[in-house]
Amino acid sequence: MNNDLKRLQDRVEQLEAVERDYIGLNQLIDHAANNGNLDEYGGNAFLCVHQSTGKIEDASPQALALLGFTQDELRQHRIDEIEITSDDLPQNHVTYVQNTSQEHMYTCAYRHHDGYRLPIRVYQRVIHVDSDGTVLQYTLEDLSLRKKLWRELSRREDANFHFREKLKQLNEINLQMAEAKSLYELCKIGVQLGMEKLGFDRLSIWLQDEETQVVTGTYGVDEKGAIRDERGSKWSYVDTYVMEFVEGKNTLFVIQNNAPIYNHASQVVGYGWHISVPLLYRGRFIGFMAADNFINQRDLKDYQPELLRLYGITIGHLAAYQRELDTIRKLSDAIQHSDSMIGILNEEAIIEFVNGAFVHVSGYKAEDVIGKSLAFLLPESGYQPIWEAISNKISWQGELTQRKQDGQPYETIVALLPIKTGDGVHNFVLVQEDITEQKRTRKYEFDLRLEQARTRMLETFIRDIGHEFRTPLSIIKVKAYLVQKATDDTRKGQLAAQIEEQADVISAMMDDLIYLVKLESESDAHRVSLDLKQITEDTVQDVATASRQKPLQWNRQLAVVPHIMGDAEKLARAIREVVKNAVQYTPANGTITVALSCAANQVHLRIQDTGMGIPKHEIEKIFTPLYRVDQARTERGTGLGLSITKRILEMHYGTITVESTPNVGSTFVIQLPLPG
Ligand code: ADP
Repeated sequence: MNNDLKRLQDRVEQLEAVERDYIGLNQLIDHAANNGNLDEYGGNAFLCVHQSTGKIEDASPQALALLGFTQDELRQHRIDEIEITSDDLPQNHVTYVQNTSQEHMYTCAYRHHDGYRLPIRVYQRVIHVDSDGTVLQYTLEDLSLRKKLWRELSRREDANFHFREKLKQLNEINLQMAEAKSLYELCKIGVQLGMEKLGFDRLSIWLQDEETQVVTGTYGVDEKGAIRDERGSKWSYVDTYVMEFVEGKNTLFVIQNNAPIYNHASQVVGYGWHISVPLLYRGRFIGFMAADNFINQRDLKDYQPELLRLYGITIGHLAAYQRELDTIRKLSDAIQHSDSMIGILNEEAIIEFVNGAFVHVSGYKAEDVIGKSLAFLLPESGYQPIWEAISNKISWQGELTQRKQDGQPYETIVALLPIKTGDGVHNFVLVQEDITEQKRTRKYEFDLRLEQARTRMLETFIRDIGHEFRTPLSIIKVKAYLVQKATDDTRKGQLAAQIEEQADVISAMMDDLIYLVKLESESDAHRVSLDLKQITEDTVQDVATASRQKPLQWNRQLAVVPHIMGDAEKLARAIREVVKNAVQYTPANGTITVALSCAANQVHLRIQDTGMGIPKHEIEKIFTPLYRVDQARTERGTGLGLSITKRILEMHYGTITVESTPNVGSTFVIQLPLPG
């Protein structure tokens, strides 16, 4: 019965405690929700107790509030009247030795003024010893649920406070890190400030090499806490937790509870916690940062992983920025000191940058041209194709004549390259080489060679011409002598006619020669739109009429073709020479076919005969001036006809080809491009 009563009493007490806790909890939650200061709920409850008498000499306000007594009431009591150390309470007695003093810790219950029991943890230590004896200080820790919650909340608030403080620091660190002059300096500062300002024990920063799938070290902290240059270290991250960062599956990696701690060379140096976070730039993995507690062995604080994660994002941004800056610095160094003239344009063809070589060659100062359109530097004809390339965001290459600041012209090879970035093309590099000197040398060499060739040609030409003229002249000489001797008028008349014939040969040759020389000196034909069918018809008709003594079969297949651009007189001459040859080298009763057609943007004119043909090895040579296939051929022309044809066709961007079989016939094909 007694036992039952006791159990019932205990139960009532427990229920009362629960109710007190519940009320207390609600007050606390209300307080916390209204952003009240949790410290009001905290503070230590102290009692000062005379060791030998057990008399309570003093109590802190918190102790009075906790136990429900006034100071005076409490002073009436001895500690053993308030503290209940019964067997059913766990004692957990622990003794700490701190410097010279000892501290005991135990759990027990304290009797509240209202009679109920409070679960309490006591920390007991000596505070002073005087003539009256030793005085002990009892620090009372309320173990009730309400108190536990309070402690948890204030621990969190404390952590929050620290976290907020660290975030403030992070902000300041940001500014300091932004001043780093290079990527490695940034990593070094990152490690150092992470320790000094954010309270991390050891940190290391690793950067990714995407191609080889390794991470390479930058800076870290050695096993004694000093900053260590770890640029020589690298390891493959394949099959490690880093892979989850790379694939974007994870942004935090934490191992607690005495996990192995590695050094930069992947050797285990100790045990503790370890956190890794990715360095991210625009969501892309560029490396990672790791922290551990190897040196101070302090427990992992709640906020530390989150803090490191934020730090990782910060460093990731700055590292990516530095990395780009590093590349830009190297590039800009290379550009600035390049021998080539280099400029950067935007998509409006506005000059944004020019290098030293440009300034040196062009004579313009950078500030004279930056901000101006490229049209300012280039002639209209040069600017136009570049502007087109810029509009289409494509590259372009060509040669341009430009003017220096003082108006002097200079020759350049120009290459325009679009700079492709993640979000398209917004800039272009314009690389230019000054080739004035080269061109001058090249032109000089060319002129020299041309001059030599001309001299050689002239020599051969004069020799050949001499030969050509010698024959008719010697015939004239002989005939003239015979005229003198002749007595018979008919004979004289015959000889005079023969002399005249030879004089005609010389005159024809002179005409052809003069014509050819004139053609050679002309660079372009006078072009008008013309009807090639009409020209061919007229020319063929002329030749046929002139040769009507020779019986020949004429076969005309002249299709209507689009007009071409050209010089009618010259093209007629070109056709006439070929048709004349067909007549000349085809025996009587042969067939001459002239066919005009059009295909693949070209006009084809075929002149086919059934004449003596040309041996294969001679075909190449028949377009050489004064060349005749067979000196013995009875029909002698000037040897200039086909040279004239070829030259005229060249001036019209056309061609002439031959196919021929001796004793069967020859086919000459003229091709001329159609406009557009
Ligand atoms: P030529 O005034 O001697 O005809 P060309 O320059 O017109 O000079 O022709 C060069 C040479 O090509 C001619 O001497 C001739 O031997 C040869 N030739 C040109 N056309 C024909 C042809 N239709 N048939 C055979 N031989 C030809």
